[in-house]
Amino acid sequence: MTPLEARTLERLVARRDHLAALTSARKEQRWVELMRQVDGAIGAIEVGTWGICAVCHDPISSARLSEDPLVRVCLECLSEAERRALERDLQAAGKVQRTLLPPTHLVQDGWEVAYLWEPRGVVSGDHVDVIPASAPGAPLHLVLGDVSGKGVAAALLQSHLHALFRALVPSGQTLPELFKRANELFAEATSSISYATLAALRLDGGGRFTIANAGHPRPLLADGRGVRPIEGGGLPLGLFCDSVYTERDLTLAPGQTLLLYTDGWTEGARGDREFGIGRAAASLRRGAALPLPELLASCRGELEQFLEGSPRGDDLTLVAVRRLAA
Ligand SMILES: [Zn+2]
Repeated sequence: MTPLEARTLERLVARRDHLAALTSARKEQRWVELMRQVDGAIGAIEVGTWGICAVCHDPISSARLSEDPLVRVCLECLSEAERRALERDLQAAGKVQRTLLPPTHLVQDGWEVAYLWEPRGVVSGDHVDVIPASAPGAPLHLVLGDVSGKGVAAALLQSHLHALFRALVPSGQTLPELFKRANELFAEATSSISYATLAALRLDGGGRFTIANAGHPRPLLADGRGVRPIEGGGLPLGLFCDSVYTERDLTLAPGQTLLLYTDGWTEGARGDREFGIGRAAASLRRGAALPLPELLASCRGELEQFLEGSPRGDDLTLVAVRRLAA
């Protein structure tokens, strides 16, 4: 069994158990049908026919299979019309996703925030949002996440995260309370099959901010003396319904910069060598005095340089936060 098959089998068995629980409580036709498909895929993995196109009998690409382990036909065997329809849908999904994005550069209450969001394909599983203060004097919230999986499935869950945090943040809860609730809702919605890593900041006045982290790569802080990661955090959202989260209170001095990113930055790889946290930290150190949009461009540029033209394997998002001089 290949690693992809082993991983998929595990996912499918979890999905079947969940569906079995659902259908025993309430028999809905679409669940029964889905269960039939899941059983079919599990059976196919066991007998070694999974991932073979039902039309041409060539292998289906592993990217397509990891996106949807239930597909049974390779891309080439879709008809021309089906392919065009798929492409149109994808472009439309990409457009919708872009409308959910916040402004790419904003200055508010002594804070400056800028980000760069670059999907690898048409849509992204990276989630970035800046949620404006609900009332004058209330804090600004910044959320950066990364949904497991790729393509449209990840993008759908990204928009789910967007709605969750947009709905929860105005309630005025603390970050651990927000994470706890978002985790419960996300786990419920995805049946614990998908998960998302997430970091969030609540930006208060006077450079004070609070940070919580759910399994997301450690943000980097450039404080004039050097660059260091901000430690701490809990499990990704969506894995376990009862996960608990903590927060840390920190302060940025004027001019200091915090950089959040998705693993598309640090895990960008050339052959078997990763860009890595060391190069990432060095990029931030070199660019820490630049205006934020230039800092982001230079951080991305250093990754591109490292990749030497090999394609980026993942979505990439970089978010920079700076406290402005009074
Ligand atoms: Zn085929």
